[in-house]
Amino acid sequence: MQKIVRPIRTGEEYIESLKGRDLKVYLFGELVKEPVDHPIIRPSINAVAKTYDLAVEEEGLASAKSSITGEQVNRFLHIAESAQDVVKQNKMQRKLGQLTGTCFQRCVGMDALNSLHSTTFEIDEKHGTKYHKKLLEFIKMVQHENLVIGGAMTDVKGDRSKGPSDQEDPDLFVRVVERDDKGVYISGAKAHQTGCINSHWMLVMPTMRLTENDKDYALVGAIPVDAPGITYIYGRQSCDTRAMEPGDIDQGNSEYGGQEAMVIFDKAFIPNELIFMDGEYEFASMLVERFTCYHRRSYVCKTGLGDVLIGAAATIADYNGVPNVSHIKDKLIEMTHLNESIYGTGIASSYQSHKMKSGVWQNDDMLANVCKHNVTRFPYQISRFAQDIAGGLMVTLPSEAELRNPITGPLLEKYLKGRKGVDVESRMRILRLIENMTMGRNAVGYLTESMHGAGSPQAQRIQIARQMQLGYKKRLAKDLAKVQEQGEETLENADYFKRVFKLDNSKE
Ligand SMILES: Cc1cc2nc3c(=O)[nH]c(=O)nc-3n(C[C@H](O)[C@H](O)[C@H](O)COP(=O)(O)OP(=O)(O)OC[C@H]3O[C@@H](n4cnc5c(N)ncnc54)[C@H](O)[C@@H]3O)c2cc1C
Ligand code: SF4
Repeated sequence: MQKIVRPIRTGEEYIESLKGRDLKVYLFGELVKEPVDHPIIRPSINAVAKTYDLAVEEEGLASAKSSITGEQVNRFLHIAESAQDVVKQNKMQRKLGQLTGTCFQRCVGMDALNSLHSTTFEIDEKHGTKYHKKLLEFIKMVQHENLVIGGAMTDVKGDRSKGPSDQEDPDLFVRVVERDDKGVYISGAKAHQTGCINSHWMLVMPTMRLTENDKDYALVGAIPVDAPGITYIYGRQSCDTRAMEPGDIDQGNSEYGGQEAMVIFDKAFIPNELIFMDGEYEFASMLVERFTCYHRRSYVCKTGLGDVLIGAAATIADYNGVPNVSHIKDKLIEMTHLNESIYGTGIASSYQSHKMKSGVWQNDDMLANVCKHNVTRFPYQISRFAQDIAGGLMVTLPSEAELRNPITGPLLEKYLKGRKGVDVESRMRILRLIENMTMGRNAVGYLTESMHGAGSPQAQRIQIARQMQLGYKKRLAKDLAKVQEQGEETLENADYFKRVFKLDNSKE
């Protein structure tokens, strides 16, 4: 296992823990010597560091007492022991969204650990395997050392109409290519991996329902991010090279950013003690569904970003001298309404959690999918309002270099003035922040991640359709309309309304 000398406590210690690792990361066609020092990568590391600092500054919000270790652990590593624990995840996510204005990258690991808790328990129950105990040992270690876990689910997938074993190239989904008595060797690639280079460990998981022919793909295991046989290819973000320019205005948010990379496994080794599913293909869909159920309401993180963008829009309206104009106020109200509609469904999903056989608490699936479906739409609408309020200068603004130039600087100071008493530089900074969040680096986190992360919109519609209990709703309508009908009631495999009408959600 990876050697880290002591439990990591602060953001600073976390950043230290990333230094000097032997990661093979490619960016702009070159191997990156030290990711921690790379100006494009560093803001994403700062965002994760904030998850450590918050746990120190607001212990109740961002840490929890774990009954696995008996210690106070970072909430991102905690296994939810009550509905309240699930709710607190959301509160922490909103706060971190507010503090960073971007994706802070640790929720995929949190949701993977929690969904594996129940899934491994149920695999063991059926197959007599020992995955759950091994998982608990792993959780004990990461909780104690306070490590960052990346969740590697999405494969590159090749031809989307075909499953893993039907692809022309079998490596388009990650699979076991060799095994010996010590463990397995995996090959293939995972796409869009959030924060993988900033993690200490990755949890490799299947990405979809599998069949008997896909047994080699039914693998869950933990692997250190710097294990031999792993290559990272860094994902570009719009305007990312601004981080390499002097100054900080043009970056919009120079401190924090998100990170995605493609991860390629070439016979990377996972030892037996870190394997939590191996061939039990019929449990792949259970794992994916439980993971996405957690993760789709984790997207209340975007309401924290929404708070920042609403604040930026209100500020620029003020700087432009129109804070009290009725349509501006109305647009800010609409932005807030959209933002809170996301939060409302996410937090409700968490409150409506229930206890699983393994003891972990799982949030409500219907409301999680409604939350994420809102997230695929509302941040785009909120961004549209922000761009409307900002005015065209947001995209025609000269660079910071012009502001600092002795000839053009005074011209900009004269001609970019807004309301009396407002600095031109402050005005430029807020405009750049709106640009950053709606079309620059953090638009990855605020917009496209909102669209596709945790599954594209159609994936939520499928889950909503499965749980809408139309038979029950038709019965309600027919009863009120006094429709007399013979024949069988449709049997429904959904229990959403059972959860809706449960009176005490603190009980199982
Ligand atoms: C910023 C970002 C961060 C992410 N972070 C992570 C992460 O940390 N870990 C992780 O595992 N994943 C991560 N993801 C991956 C995310 O879960 C996927 O993007 C998502 O599942 C969609 O897959 P895709 O991007 O391959 O799109 P595609 O599968 O190519 O989908 C494109 C479109 O085709 C449709 N489509 C695809 N297949 C079918 C089909 N068979 N039938 C009908 N329609 C189909 C989709 O509905 C969608 O409309 C991240 C994604 C983004 C954008
Ligand atoms: S997109 Fe949101 S939920 Fe997902 S890892 Fe980033 S901050 Fe967390």
